[in-house]
Amino acid sequence: MAGLERLVFGTIRRYRLLEDGDVVYVAVSGGKDSAAALWTLRRFLEVYPMDVRITAFHIDLGFSTSGETLSVVEALASRADVDLEVVHVGDFGVDVERAAAALRRPVCSVCGAVKRYLMNRVPRERGATKVATGHHMDDVLVNFIKNLAGNHLDWTSKMGPKLVGTGKLLTKIRPLYEASSDEISGYVRAMGLPVAKCPCPYTMGSCSYAKETLEMARALSVRPGSVRTGHISTYLAIRSGLDKMEEGTPGIKRRLVRGIHELARRMGTPSSRPPAQCSVCGEPSSGQICAFCRIRMASQRGIGKATEKI
Ligand SMILES: [Zn+2]
Repeated sequence: MAGLERLVFGTIRRYRLLEDGDVVYVAVSGGKDSAAALWTLRRFLEVYPMDVRITAFHIDLGFSTSGETLSVVEALASRADVDLEVVHVGDFGVDVERAAAALRRPVCSVCGAVKRYLMNRVPRERGATKVATGHHMDDVLVNFIKNLAGNHLDWTSKMGPKLVGTGKLLTKIRPLYEASSDEISGYVRAMGLPVAKCPCPYTMGSCSYAKETLEMARALSVRPGSVRTGHISTYLAIRSGLDKMEEGTPGIKRRLVRGIHELARRMGTPSSRPPAQCSVCGEPSSGQICAFCRIRMASQRGIGKATEKI
């Protein structure tokens, strides 16, 4: 058994991520992290058979790279011998790039809101009990630090390996919670899993492009912030700091992420209070109209004048 599998199997058992009767939709983007999440969940069920059904779930965001990404995802699902369900944002009347321009928001922020919405609504409507994502230890640590720095302390309660849903919110599980990005890369290479070169043309932190930038920054011993700006530079700067800590104190990242889980547990799940419903689509929403419906409306109209919060 590969080292990463031992680690992930421990996470699945320790936090009871799978239960008999589960129908788990694994969100696959075409990237390495979600490929590893799908593969390790499948391997877990081979080693410890349970009454759990796994389906790969892909959201086609309508980007220029979508065709290549879709063929990679199809190859992955076929090799894992699981069903694949694909939804196209265009079928929901959404155009991510157009909406981002109209709302004057970064494409990454609009894309994230669209994915969060569809990853909850579609699997639930198709009978899923849980959604699994490829978020790993480095994502959790970076997001925790960003939230702490931004005084978004409430978000910490959502940062455990299992976020129990309520009402229309599905339970989310993160089987790679205690695995590092480097461990996942090594596993995906060793297993020869099909992975898209860059599923996202906008280079978010999970993208291989961002990863290469990080490697380049390390090799040149330059501050990652001086290589790129915006989302990536923040992600890389924090990642780079964490990796330096890990070099000096091996195992510190794993201990930190377990501490974050304990903190999230002590804070309690925010979803114990059912959220309000969107007056347009009826899905959970913090405002009267949910972010997805506002994005859908913005997709239909021209370029806006003011920045709109979503
Ligand atoms: Zn809505």
